[in-house]
Amino acid sequence: MSYTDEIYERVVSKNPNEPEFHQAVKEVLDSLSDVINENEALYRKEGLLERLTEPERIISFKVPWVDDKGAVQINRGYRVQFNSAIGPYKGGLRFHPSVNQSILKFLGFEQVFKNSLTGLPIGGGKGGSDFDPKGKSDREVMAFCQSFMTELYKYIGADEDVPAGDIGVGGREIGYLYGQYKRITGLYEGVLTGKGLTFGGSLVRTQATGYGLVYILDEMLKGAGKELAGKTVVVTGAGNVAIYTVEKLYQLGAKPVAMCDSTGYIYDENGIDLAAVKEIKEVKRARLSEYTSYVPTAVYTEGRGIWNIKCDIYLPCATQNELDLDAVKTLVANGCFAVAEGANMPTTREATEYLKEQGILFMPGKAANAGGVATSALEMSQNSARLSWSFDEVDEKLKGIMKGIYQKVDDAARRYGHEGDFVAGANIAGFEKVAAAMIAQGIAL
Ligand code: NDP
Repeated sequence: MSYTDEIYERVVSKNPNEPEFHQAVKEVLDSLSDVINENEALYRKEGLLERLTEPERIISFKVPWVDDKGAVQINRGYRVQFNSAIGPYKGGLRFHPSVNQSILKFLGFEQVFKNSLTGLPIGGGKGGSDFDPKGKSDREVMAFCQSFMTELYKYIGADEDVPAGDIGVGGREIGYLYGQYKRITGLYEGVLTGKGLTFGGSLVRTQATGYGLVYILDEMLKGAGKELAGKTVVVTGAGNVAIYTVEKLYQLGAKPVAMCDSTGYIYDENGIDLAAVKEIKEVKRARLSEYTSYVPTAVYTEGRGIWNIKCDIYLPCATQNELDLDAVKTLVANGCFAVAEGANMPTTREATEYLKEQGILFMPGKAANAGGVATSALEMSQNSARLSWSFDEVDEKLKGIMKGIYQKVDDAARRYGHEGDFVAGANIAGFEKVAAAMIAQGIAL
């Protein structure tokens, strides 16, 4: 049995009931097989894959808080500190009822390679809670965040582990978490990223994942002799990533025509009215169904099925496994020629394989959505230096980083004879740096 197959079996048997984690490990191991085979003796001697697939630490804790009715609520909090070979753990916090250890391990594992691809000195981690901020008052969200941080603060620090936002954790939550950290420790340090601009946040961080996605999409299209301007695009989700993806698409001359949230999707053939979406989602925190009261000619459809809308480019920016085989078959049949993942692992394995077989340009999340964490690392640099860079300065750096990621991914794919396979390219390029750092540091992590 090959080393990668052995490791996959070991992961499955040691981590039962963690399907998302298995899925992420399988995808990475499969695409690393050429690199692993080439260095098998060394990697086996080093126990490299065993070490790489085992998180350095998983912290799980109780989060008690009191709701507006005076009732005690209990949630479960986590931090998965996956790999610190190339820098302090870095990765978001997700607050969503679906959060469990499997999901956070898959996200933490992916984060290790993503962070490596940015070229910046950041290790991989992820955390969160099964708390649902939806429908909660600001006071309830604050009570939860304060309780969450009262436990988490013991395990994080500006040079140790630097969490950020993810699904359900935006500027409001980061503010409450940061306030509590500072109150407990007395430290004014860059322990969280995605902070408000008045207390150490970086310009462009809010926009970074969406902007970065469009920058790398543009590079991928250019590499294939195509251009973004004039193309019709479907963007899924209506959260942070989706909104700023749409904003940058417009800036580069493309036409986004559809978006969705967890209850339904909107189709606006004249192009999405982004100001309306921002007001509905960022200000009112309401449902996307309200969009038709802003644009009466648009169509709202309850439920799933956004992939039935004809487009040139499809950008999944909502959640994991949202895009399955049937959906991609429809996309391809309707003429879609490029998919880039704004969300983490939104495309199922079978769907990814199908897209590859059909020769669709496909950029995986760990490369395509790395702009968020890259800008978080720029926020850390500014905090350490006690400086704030201008919007244009950060945006230029982000653009440079996304270009660099495209080049690394493209180059790694070519070196191993997989030209155009950016899944393989991203995994290989991300892995090479982490593996070298782990070997150099001995059996310490
Ligand atoms: P948000 O919480 O801001 O937005 C998520 C959006 O997706 C919401 O509009 C939500 O709908 C929608 N959504 C969630 N589940 C479903 C579903 N099953 N079907 C349809 N729509 C759904 O999260 P982000 O935008 O921050 O994150 C989106 C993805 O991008 C996640 O996979 C995240 O891990 C990834 N990511 C985020 C980064 C960041 O910087 N924020 C960085 C890198 C990756 P509703 O409004 O109804 O809740």
